[in-house]
Amino acid sequence: MKPGAAELDQRIAELLGDPAYAGHPLREALEALWRHTGEQMARIQRVTQLSDAYQSMAHERELGLCDQFDRQLRRLTRIARISDHYQNMMRDLNRALEETSSRDPLTGLLNRRALMEMIKQEVQRAARSGDSFVVAMLDVDHFKSVNDRYGHETGDRALVELAGVLGESLREYDLCGRWGGEEFLVLLPQTQPDAAQTVMDRLVGDVRGLAIAAGGDVVRLTVSIGMAHHQLGETFSETLSRADQALYLAKQDGRDRVALGFPRR
Ligand code: GH3
Ligand code: MG
Ligand code: MG
Repeated sequence: MKPGAAELDQRIAELLGDPAYAGHPLREALEALWRHTGEQMARIQRVTQLSDAYQSMAHERELGLCDQFDRQLRRLTRIARISDHYQNMMRDLNRALEETSSRDPLTGLLNRRALMEMIKQEVQRAARSGDSFVVAMLDVDHFKSVNDRYGHETGDRALVELAGVLGESLREYDLCGRWGGEEFLVLLPQTQPDAAQTVMDRLVGDVRGLAIAAGGDVVRLTVSIGMAHHQLGETFSETLSRADQALYLAKQDGRDRVALGFPRR
């Protein structure tokens, strides 16, 4: 109740109780107004109570929703972290798989599949830039007799050591891999036949210098190499086939040497 309202209430109660005003028409009107006001006040009080209760309910509900939201957010953060972790694992696994599928398990060099891809890319690059490349097909001489004499295991070890020589003897930007069996392939990007001949002659010499221990013996290897300079407009298999023909010539000429394939007619 406002200040002064209690006094007014008191005064009206006294006036209504005063017998001097009994029967006075203003007294009846005042009494009716007084009652009406009382009822209105009670109603306002009830509405105010209801409104307060509703507000506190809404507030509690809001707090509950905030809690739920926080919980969901924490859960989502956890799920996102786990998903990131799995994605990283999948990426690493894919990388490892890609790496494995492009490597030869014995020597660790690129395998035939990866080499093919690289030759195809090199053919495209040559077509764009006009700068051509050389492929060299390398085959170990009389390797069957190494196996026959020292066993397959020593033969395997010899291939691994030969792969090491390839890695050391070639230039940094040359690519090499195992084509299959005792055959290797070297890709010399943006290289002319003269420069390729120098690199391959050095390689043949380095292989000659390789000494592989086998029990009390030392196994020596030689290799024959056939090279082909890719000609613009030629397919990769045509270039490879010319390198193969050159390898055949190197074998025929006495092995332990390099031969260059004839240009395409
Ligand atoms: P050439 O000088 O004419 O090339 O004679 P070669 O004996 O090397 O040729 P041939 O094709 O007759 O024999 C190749 C041998 O290479 C036979 C095969 O057992 C051996 N070889 C191929 N792959 C492997 C391998 O992964 N490990 C071992 N130890 N030997 C292999
Ligand atoms: Mg062979
Ligand atoms: Mg051979």
